[in-house]
Amino acid sequence: MEWSLRVGTIAGTAIRLHVTFVLLLAWIGLMQYRIGGAEAAVSGVVFILAVFGCVVLHEFGHIAVARRYGIKTRDIMLLPIGGVARLERIPKEPRQELAIAVAGPIVNVAIALIIIAVLGGFEVGAVLQPQNPRQDFLVGLAGVNLFLFFFNLVPALPMDGGRVLRSILAM
Ligand SMILES: [Zn+2]
Repeated sequence: MEWSLRVGTIAGTAIRLHVTFVLLLAWIGLMQYRIGGAEAAVSGVVFILAVFGCVVLHEFGHIAVARRYGIKTRDIMLLPIGGVARLERIPKEPRQELAIAVAGPIVNVAIALIIIAVLGGFEVGAVLQPQNPRQDFLVGLAGVNLFLFFFNLVPALPMDGGRVLRSILAM
């Protein structure tokens, strides 16, 4: 028993929600409901789901590159702290490990750039001072993706940055 719900399978990789992630969603919904009613609860939960959609895309960045090296991924577990893709093995070749490690954060930068392009560019200050709800959603999502990019590149295991550092040192 892994305390997780399987929500679907994409290209042979199962997507699982850990029970603590489901509790996080319920907690955010409840907090937002107490602050701003049903509408706030829905938009809070939708935002978190959008963030975790980006986390899943990040994991699929790793998975797609790993697959090119013949490594399958059994599943992705979504936890409140982020996603974990469970690869069948870690490549022995440092260059391959490097390529797999950077593929995830690159996805977050790509998402942030696409959102910024869609919005026609935005002032960095807009991330800190929300104004219009619809634009705030996209600005917030772009901000979260930039955060995920930098956060994942922290050079410590088990972060992607730790894998990048390990593979560079191995070369
Ligand atoms: Zn990653």
